[in-house]
Amino acid sequence: MNADLELYRDMVRRFVATEIDPHHERWREQQHVDRELWRKAGGLGLLLADIPEEYGGAGGDYAHMTILFEELAAVGDRAFGVHVHAIVAHYLLNQGTEEQKRRYLPKLASGEMIAAIAMTEPGAGSDLQGVRTRALKEGSEYLINGSKIFISNGYLADLVVVVAKTDPDAGSKGFSLLLVETNERPGYRVGRILDKLGQKGQDTCELFFDDVRVGADAVLGDAEGRGFAQLMSELPYERTMVAVSALGAIERALRLTVDHVRQRKAFGKALFEMQNTRFKLAEVKTQAVVGRALVDDCVERMLNGTMDTTTASIAKLWLTEAEGRVMDECLQLFGGYGYMLEYPIAQMFADARVQRIYGGSSEIMKEIIARSL
Ligand SMILES: Cc1cc2nc3c(=O)[nH]c(=O)nc-3n(C[C@H](O)[C@H](O)[C@H](O)COP(=O)(O)OP(=O)(O)OC[C@H]3O[C@@H](n4cnc5c(N)ncnc54)[C@H](O)[C@@H]3O)c2cc1C
Repeated sequence: MNADLELYRDMVRRFVATEIDPHHERWREQQHVDRELWRKAGGLGLLLADIPEEYGGAGGDYAHMTILFEELAAVGDRAFGVHVHAIVAHYLLNQGTEEQKRRYLPKLASGEMIAAIAMTEPGAGSDLQGVRTRALKEGSEYLINGSKIFISNGYLADLVVVVAKTDPDAGSKGFSLLLVETNERPGYRVGRILDKLGQKGQDTCELFFDDVRVGADAVLGDAEGRGFAQLMSELPYERTMVAVSALGAIERALRLTVDHVRQRKAFGKALFEMQNTRFKLAEVKTQAVVGRALVDDCVERMLNGTMDTTTASIAKLWLTEAEGRVMDECLQLFGGYGYMLEYPIAQMFADARVQRIYGGSSEIMKEIIARSL
């Protein structure tokens, strides 16, 4: 942190307090945030804070994005899909053609366009080799057919990065990422918003592609067949973000639980005075401090360009597993109140569960880490 970043944090905190925190319940009911939120965040330069100004970004770096993820986590927000949006921007920045960067990044920065990434299919999650969606060349166009599931921002998305097979016979070199603008696109259909255990304000959807036509310039970059390599190259960005948000949730749970056990009395004294409570919270604090050291190291690596896939996988694995343990222990200290959805800890417990599944499950993280041994 430095003085500029502290000022930036103040601005983000004010934005989160006025534009995010008061709307959680309504977003949970309607299963998505308001489109207007994206415009407001874009207007303040929050959406693509780490994208160069020449492409409409705010010209900051990963520290600015970290601050946004931390402040969202500090109020328990899991509805605003800015994480996925930022990853799409990085695909474009690092893998896109100059024309693709100029066409999309300014609109993603302003919130005029909302982005999603469509990899997962009913038959392909951890193992993307099973992807069946095809984008086959027909003259100067691609014809896309297939379906996707569990797509974050799916209901609102104007730009979807679709993982598809462009050459079914070329194995892992037969995949490409296609930039699909969804507005009034014949053959493109958004299914229902899926009813999830947690993260209920986030619009996670099924997407259907029936003879969807896009131009040859919709392939990310200047050649097909690079999809897997392009996906791999941005994984550390995504996994570090998940780790940052997990840490934010751990720190919030600790604050909320300490407050509760200081006030709640049983057997003539505050819960806080009981040794079990103190020991449990000492363990939570230890995990928060260890997690903070790991996340700070990751953010520094993201800033100085030394982040690697193994380290990002370690951070995602450790922080999301810790988040799961912490939510469970903290909820227990709330007793029956912890089971009531009007108590934030209950929602945090439900919201946390998927952190060990998406962005590469814990088991896949272990596979990746083991390869480095
Ligand atoms: C809320 C939510 C949001 C999501 N957002 C997106 C999104 O925006 N875009 C997108 O493309 N996808 C998204 N996903 C999908 C997510 O990335 C997948 O669910 C995840 O990759 C797991 O795939 P799967 O569900 O098919 O499970 P599977 O791959 O069927 O895995 C089932 C279980 O088997 C384990 N397993 C699989 N392979 C191995 C192995 N080799 N060794 C040991 N264990 C293994 C897994 O760890 C898991 O525990 C989202 C999912 C959810 C729930």
